Amino acid sequence: MTDKTERNPLLDIHFEIPFDSIRAEHVEPAIDELLTDARARLEAIAEEKSQRTFENTMRAFDQMTERLDFAMSVVKHLESVATYPELRAAHNAVQPKVSAFVAGIPLHEGLWKAVQEFAATDEAKALTGTRRRFLTKTIQDFRRHGAELDAAGKKRLEALDVELSRLTTKFGENVLDSTNEFELVITEEAKLAGLPPSAVAAAGASAEAKGVKGWRFTLQAPSYLAVMTYLDEAAIREQVYRAYNTRATAGNHDNREILGRILELRHEKAKLLSFASFADLVIEDRMAHTGERAQRFLKELQEKTEARFRQENLELAAFRRERGETRARELEPWDIAYYAEKQRVALYDFDEEALRPYFPLERAVEGMFETVRRLYGIQVSERTGVPAWHADVKYYEMRDHDGSLLGAFYADWYPRENKRGGAWMDAFITGLPGKDGFQPHLGLMCGNLTPPVGGKPALLTHRDVQTIFHEFGHLLHHCLSRVELRSLAGTSVAWDFVELPSQIMENWCWEREALDLFARHYETGDPIPEELFQKMKRARNFRSANVQMRQLGFGITDLALHIEYDAARDGSVMDYARGILQQFSPATLPADHAMIAGFTHLFANPVGYGAGYYSYKWAEVLDADAFTRFRQSGIFSREVGLEFRGKILARGDSEDPAELYRTFMGRDPDPNALLERSGLLTTVNA
Ligand SMILES: [Zn+2]
Repeated sequence: MTDKTERNPLLDIHFEIPFDSIRAEHVEPAIDELLTDARARLEAIAEEKSQRTFENTMRAFDQMTERLDFAMSVVKHLESVATYPELRAAHNAVQPKVSAFVAGIPLHEGLWKAVQEFAATDEAKALTGTRRRFLTKTIQDFRRHGAELDAAGKKRLEALDVELSRLTTKFGENVLDSTNEFELVITEEAKLAGLPPSAVAAAGASAEAKGVKGWRFTLQAPSYLAVMTYLDEAAIREQVYRAYNTRATAGNHDNREILGRILELRHEKAKLLSFASFADLVIEDRMAHTGERAQRFLKELQEKTEARFRQENLELAAFRRERGETRARELEPWDIAYYAEKQRVALYDFDEEALRPYFPLERAVEGMFETVRRLYGIQVSERTGVPAWHADVKYYEMRDHDGSLLGAFYADWYPRENKRGGAWMDAFITGLPGKDGFQPHLGLMCGNLTPPVGGKPALLTHRDVQTIFHEFGHLLHHCLSRVELRSLAGTSVAWDFVELPSQIMENWCWEREALDLFARHYETGDPIPEELFQKMKRARNFRSANVQMRQLGFGITDLALHIEYDAARDGSVMDYARGILQQFSPATLPADHAMIAGFTHLFANPVGYGAGYYSYKWAEVLDADAFTRFRQSGIFSREVGLEFRGKILARGDSEDPAELYRTFMGRDPDPNALLERSGLLTTVNA
């Protein structure tokens, strides 16, 4: 029971969050109260009787959910990093209420009227900069949610959303169920030839868990990838490949019709809202702005990658012949990863584990702080004694060159049973201008890195180091924000722009000068030997044209389905999608290949990555291109650093990201930097 005299710690925004006193029993009462508070604020904006002003309408709207957002960010965070049954139950009890409230905001007619009334005032017409953008974006957002539809239109939109939600949920369930339905149990040890011991052990454990003899393989990623990459017997690889690429195409878990229906409904929704396509609806608010622009972007990269792609495939075929495998058949789709791995080992003999001793966690983190000190003039230092959710969590303060506090953040790097997987950054508090200057920001970053064992420090892979830099890049975007409105601050930016500040940080992990700051052998203090460094760099671009073509294929298929596909004209969606994907595949796809029926990114969520898959490549182009300015002026150039800080990191979404980018680069993004970084700009003599 909560002590009645003790105030619920989730009700107020604290810069030092009292993690040591927040308990599961606080969650429901606090969120209920804060929901009531947010609803009351919403109604107050709608019912405002005096003259509409930016302050009483737009700023009030911007701050309407501040307390609720803070409390939910803390609850969600604890659920992700330190959960227990009562907390999970409390989280699951409040989550749907909060989602429903948030989803209802752009559908609130009184609020829409308030925004329109304000938009008609002289004050609104004279707005510039961040405030102008906030008003424009708010109006667009309401329109995309149907604010301008008549009653019949609104009813239809609601029905479409309900049906899309049902079908996309079903799509995801079908993929999950059909993935789980498959198993391959091998009882003859000889048939496991080629697999690394870790994969054999995992398959053995899986069989044991199911009470069967032998080794059990599934379509879950680790099992599937191990078979495709290492298992010698082609017939087994073929069987597993075919099962994987025909998931959700039969029986009770058939997505083929559902997929066509989702596309139809998404198209109808876009038309209803006066967009030419679902892609245009989704992308309007992003940096690319239109589906057509995103398509042109991907097709340009495709043209520039194709020659090297063909050459890589010839090289792989030649490599197989050199191994004396003279069977006439072409490389089949289930041969590619297998022979590519053999080729990689033959060419590079590069073992990522060899780098681990050079990457003790503490030093990598210190090196990262030193990098941003040089670039942005900011000082990051640890502060002890701050309450957190686990003893391993560290707390840091970020100060500007004049000592002023920009922000603070928690870092939680090691896996635990009550913590979810992966790596991420999140925000607790977004600082805004206050009476005594700009208020500090508060955020966090989390990971699941190899913990210290056997008295050694935590030794990371190079991939782990990039992950830390990546998440810290998101934190910089948050902590360096100088935007006056919460809704447009920090990382609240378009989907195809949000990875620029994070991915650009990874570039420093590939530069000798930066690595020498922190990549030192944990025992000897030696830097990474030059030979190992060169191997690491060469291995990075192994078959990079194939890697790129695969991503481009997914992105181009996604956009074609959401812009051009017309069932009456183009026939079966499966054949249509396969026809496009074939152009990006190094081998001939089987006639029943139906990868698209299992493509949960695009179809297991009402929007998800639908018409948004291009963002992966888009963000890579931005970060590779923007990094060229650092490369040209020296990777620690304070001058370029301060420009990046002022023109990108400080600006959040206060201006169109395409314009922010132009302010920094002096032009639009150029894909050549990515091609160069991936080793794809060399002349091809195929
Ligand atoms: Zn990211």
